[in-house]
Amino acid sequence: MNLVVVSNRVSRGKPNEPMTGGLAAALLPIVEKSGAIWVGSSGRVRDGNQKEPFAEIEALGAGALAMLDLPAAHYGGYYEGFANSALWPALHSRADLIRASQEDYLSYREVNAFMARALLRFRKADAAFWIQDYHFLALGAELRDLGVSEPIGFFLHTPWPARSVIGGVPHHRELIEAMLAYDLIGFQTEEDCENFLSYAQSDLGLVVHDGVIISRHGRTRAAVFPIGIDPQQFAQLATKASTHPDVSRLRRSLNGEKLAIGVDRLDYSKGLINRIKAFDQMWTLHPSLARTVSLLQIATPSRGAIEAYGNLQSEVAKLVSDVNGMHGEVDWTPIRYLNKGYGQAVLAGLYRTAQVGVVTPLQDGMNLVAKEYVAAQNPVDPGVLVLSKFAGAANELDTALLVNPHDIDGMARTIAIALSMPLTERRMRWEAMMAKLRGHTIQQWFADFAEALRECQLDRNELAPVMPEPALWPLRSATTGGARYH
Ligand code: UDP
Repeated sequence: MNLVVVSNRVSRGKPNEPMTGGLAAALLPIVEKSGAIWVGSSGRVRDGNQKEPFAEIEALGAGALAMLDLPAAHYGGYYEGFANSALWPALHSRADLIRASQEDYLSYREVNAFMARALLRFRKADAAFWIQDYHFLALGAELRDLGVSEPIGFFLHTPWPARSVIGGVPHHRELIEAMLAYDLIGFQTEEDCENFLSYAQSDLGLVVHDGVIISRHGRTRAAVFPIGIDPQQFAQLATKASTHPDVSRLRRSLNGEKLAIGVDRLDYSKGLINRIKAFDQMWTLHPSLARTVSLLQIATPSRGAIEAYGNLQSEVAKLVSDVNGMHGEVDWTPIRYLNKGYGQAVLAGLYRTAQVGVVTPLQDGMNLVAKEYVAAQNPVDPGVLVLSKFAGAANELDTALLVNPHDIDGMARTIAIALSMPLTERRMRWEAMMAKLRGHTIQQWFADFAEALRECQLDRNELAPVMPEPALWPLRSATTGGARYH
């Protein structure tokens, strides 16, 4: 199989540069090892109607990276507009934040169509396409319109919300109908997969049986593939990072004080406001914890051109300043707040220095930071993970201290418990989480998805020609249920 992987942004994989998010971090080792070609935006735009899209191509391990300049006229409407101001809030169950114009939607569709045309150039014999994330919901349908008959898989890194929430996205029906051009759609959790199948069955009126949806495009399998990390590699990074100057300076600055760490893109889905309020509450309820523990919060700037993100940045900065003003002392700052990104080679060492990792999103597809924090710990003296039950990672990391990110008092109590947890309990919990991480690595995730895509292809060949032509298929069966691949 000659795999063509597509995502909005790609990563060149420099451990000293911050990743643009979990998706880039996850795909990088796969492309390096599998020999796939990874196609995405260069981050630059170009004017005019490009007949032959401009792509810069470079080697990446055994694979290659192709970076495309996207059309200038449509980039804003596609990226800041429809993808991140309509789809992202809806997918994270924030229908109140959905902002989208008809022009944004048209730009989104234009960029999907542009990407489809560009991909024809990378199509070789025995090709298969693997499209990533919510930026390209309609890319499979565009490829089919161009005559591509090879297998096309899609993986969603975010959650998929309840029917009523996705129904708040303009053109949701048209878009989800287009998604059925994919042979295989992968989700992070059972709940996401069930929500999608339930929409297909109840809103589109389609036949859904055993995780397979029948539509005018043929068969689409929906299944669960929880994304992993490479825990061994992360543990090595963490050991090596202990001598990094930033990590050594952090350790020296602590003077025996304990450290909690949060690492997030500055995004409203990450629950930063409630987390900071929980620390405020903890220091208020337990004044003895002042000077004994501080929070290092790395909040990497993200999507700053979108109003909701700009507002959040001001709100978080103000809250941090209030809490520091309230609880700080002449020689003690409760929250060290950093508005910048770090490479994973440093992050791994920062995680290892912290006795508590706080990962408390309101909603998150998986949350790789949670997994990285666990993998980076010292096995003889591991830290404690405080994890939101609404992160996809909570399904596997169920021996973390699970919290409700809306319950500020509850989080304050749990962080205090984490800080005083005895070594034997810390080790038991950590070992159970490590066993899960080792069992479902990023390499396994890739192998499972590729295998399922191959199976879809076999099914399709067996069943071809598949379907007559009704626009949508009538409802016949009531059983949903997607397979789980791990
Ligand atoms: N990350 C990074 N530098 C930073 C902050 C984050 O390299 O300053 C990486 C982090 O190591 C992780 C990814 O970005 O691999 C974030 O993934 P996650 O799934 O936690 O969240 P997302 O940003 O995709 O919503």
